[in-house]
Amino acid sequence: MTDVSTQLTRLHNDIQAAATACGRDPGGIRLIAVSKTQPLDKLRDAVAAGQTDFGENYLQEALEKITALQNDALVWHFIGPIQSNKTRDIAAHFDWVHSVDRLKIARRLSEQRPDDRPPLNICLQVNISGEDSKSGVAPAEVADLAAQINALPRLHLRGLMAVPAPADTRAAQRQPFARLRELKDELNNHGCALDSLSMGMTGDLEAAIAEGATLVRVGTAIFGKRTR
Ligand SMILES: *Cc1c(COP(=O)(O)O)cnc(C)c1O
Repeated sequence: MTDVSTQLTRLHNDIQAAATACGRDPGGIRLIAVSKTQPLDKLRDAVAAGQTDFGENYLQEALEKITALQNDALVWHFIGPIQSNKTRDIAAHFDWVHSVDRLKIARRLSEQRPDDRPPLNICLQVNISGEDSKSGVAPAEVADLAAQINALPRLHLRGLMAVPAPADTRAAQRQPFARLRELKDELNNHGCALDSLSMGMTGDLEAAIAEGATLVRVGTAIFGKRTR
């Protein structure tokens, strides 16, 4: 077995254990392999081990990988900051975008989504820890943005995403994830139909699963440390 396939097996076991520990069905948690800065060979190893969902942060690098792998069964998730001049390629080549935090970007993605593809799956990135430097819409503004995005024809608003500030204890890690879950529930009580919570990375996976994560984005635990 390659390193990557060993790590994937271990991670699936961890996800299963975390889900079982809180009474959740592990089948409700989808693993996104975050492959930013990782060489193509490691992605190929992951595909060979059965991994289908990949997360990328940098558009140019992602397009090269998507082209090189030429595999229609793969599901590509854009999870990095989005500049408006990048929306056309993102709309054309990705299946999900997790990092939408303003209407202008959402409008462009909707307008530029090719007609022969299904609506683009969207998660709104929420600045759940309230950090000045972090991207993401403020929790108080999520409802308005969600309502506006729900009206865009070529997008399918699926849920909320967050990258909380690092925390030391499991209990402290859970707080922002719990807030994100509550925010999703509130939106659904007011007319949204969100089915996704994109939260949990290598360091806070168990906490995110305990609070209802449906999409976990894991890089280091699969591919090892990034070199840049
Ligand atoms: C890099 C990245 C990840 C993966 O982080 P790891 O700690 O390597 O698991 C997840 N989400 C986002 C938005 C990232 O940028």
